[in-house]
Amino acid sequence: MFALKEARGIGTEATRAKVLETLKERGYLAADRKALVSTPLGREVIALTPPALKDPITTAEWESRLEAIAHGAETLDVFLADQCRILPDLLAPILGDGKPAFPCPSCGAALNRRKRKKDGAWFWGCTAYPDCPVILPDDNGKPGKAKPRPALSEYACPACGKPLAKRSGAKGEFYGCSGYPGCKTTCPVKLDGSPDFEAKKKGK
Ligand SMILES: [Zn+2]
Ligand SMILES: [Zn+2]
Repeated sequence: MFALKEARGIGTEATRAKVLETLKERGYLAADRKALVSTPLGREVIALTPPALKDPITTAEWESRLEAIAHGAETLDVFLADQCRILPDLLAPILGDGKPAFPCPSCGAALNRRKRKKDGAWFWGCTAYPDCPVILPDDNGKPGKAKPRPALSEYACPACGKPLAKRSGAKGEFYGCSGYPGCKTTCPVKLDGSPDFEAKKKGK
């Protein structure tokens, strides 16, 4: 196991100040009174960055190899060949390489792993949001399967005009407004399969 202290660390106090300045200039950090806080952009970049690139051990390892090159213990060619081998894999999720590692099933743009504020749960959102509202659950660090969306029916919601969708609940099939949760209209299914607007009731 490679420990940080075995290497020369990841920078000195002097370089740290410069790094923090750069992070502020790029909008990744902002001063909040006396504290430095990450901006939403900064957190997004971190969320997109592959774990190996975020790990200070990676930088420390590279620093120590550069040191070895300076001492003639390793050659620059070997180091560069290693970088060329691993960087495409590391950067693929960010650069996309034309094809994102996790493409949106709807529009093909990259999916982005995000943390829900409410409960801290991970989910995947399309980077083309708001043009593409695709949201997928997280499945151990990968986008999971979306719940199949109920097919829209030819019937319009009597309350808001959006199409009704046939859904199945504990008490069997019913029609629910596709505008849910904005519109909570539901109504039972008649024997002929059409919505029973007479018996229409509003959900809670
Ligand atoms: Zn999309
Ligand atoms: Zn409706």
